[in-house]
Amino acid sequence: MLAPPWIPVPAPGYGGVETVVSSLTEAFVEQGHDVTLLCAPGSRSSARVVTLLDEAHPDEIERSLYEVDHVARAFAVIERGHFDVVHDHCGFTAVAMADRIETPLVHTLHGQFTPSTAAFYAHHGHKATVVAISRTQIACAPSELAVVAAIPNPVDLSAWSLQEHKSDYLLWIGRMTEVKGPHRAIAAARAAGVPLVLAGVIQPGQRAFFEREIAPHVDGNRVRFIGEVGGATKRSLFANARALLMPIRWEEPFGMVMVEALACGTPVIAFPEGAARELVVHEHTGFLVDDEAAMAAAVGRLEQISPASCRAWAAAHCDVDVVSRAYVQVFRDAILARPEVRVARA
Ligand code: UDP
Repeated sequence: MLAPPWIPVPAPGYGGVETVVSSLTEAFVEQGHDVTLLCAPGSRSSARVVTLLDEAHPDEIERSLYEVDHVARAFAVIERGHFDVVHDHCGFTAVAMADRIETPLVHTLHGQFTPSTAAFYAHHGHKATVVAISRTQIACAPSELAVVAAIPNPVDLSAWSLQEHKSDYLLWIGRMTEVKGPHRAIAAARAAGVPLVLAGVIQPGQRAFFEREIAPHVDGNRVRFIGEVGGATKRSLFANARALLMPIRWEEPFGMVMVEALACGTPVIAFPEGAARELVVHEHTGFLVDDEAAMAAAVGRLEQISPASCRAWAAAHCDVDVVSRAYVQVFRDAILARPEVRVARA
């Protein structure tokens, strides 16, 4: 398992990719596979842990200096070891260089396609076995890229318990950016007359947006901002909310927070963008609505959504056991597709 160099595994707070890597790694170990986790310092796992750089780099995400250094060291470990397959979650470097190592590399697409990343994958994607995290993401992929499967990001259902009785607040949680819509969540919650809790990190470059669009509305009562959360505090925040608000305006390729909410029986009210169209089943696990006014109106219809149905949907589609077994099948196919294996089997 090749994790990014930015944040330890599992993520102590913000860190969708690191959370995914952690859940999958634990599941593979549990299933009896021999797993090595190449990752940032501070990581913990039941797998063999190999940290590569001297420190994590949470404030330098996507700085190529650290990613290239991390991946070059990882490739040295991979070439010395006897691995059947590498599962790569680490930006762009490993997939671009996958033809420089003997071991087959399965690359999970974690980001949104932009014109630049589409061109990148059109050029380099064939070097790896590429897996998407939603059908929406595949639809946005360049035609040259062969994606073998859409496998959703996993959630470990055993870590999230069902909460049927909710408290009187709505939740928004994520990165403090325009596309994730915390300012739209404020407008919707205000129109619904229900208090809103905002949680999340303010990453480098997001401070001006926060000061302009969010801070003026925070009154500690109707709108509360509690900063970055993790662990039991985060799980309780998700479990007790009447709903998670996702007023996104981008082709979000997944959205871990939606699955985390559903896992504890919290409905999701989302704009019909990106993978929200796949993760929210309208009138079953929440509502897909067009704007802030419709989001506020949907809050009044939350009684129609059963928390148990939300959890059941998450369990059926995204439980780590289901997801990890889908990945093992992809790993087997990638190993069998190696030229020397094909020749030996012929
Ligand atoms: N998260 C967290 N604490 C926070 C904010 C976010 O632990 O204060 C977690 C959240 O629970 C989720 C991840 O960070 O697991 C964000 O992943 P998501 O796919 O929703 O968003 P993105 O990767 O686009 O930031």
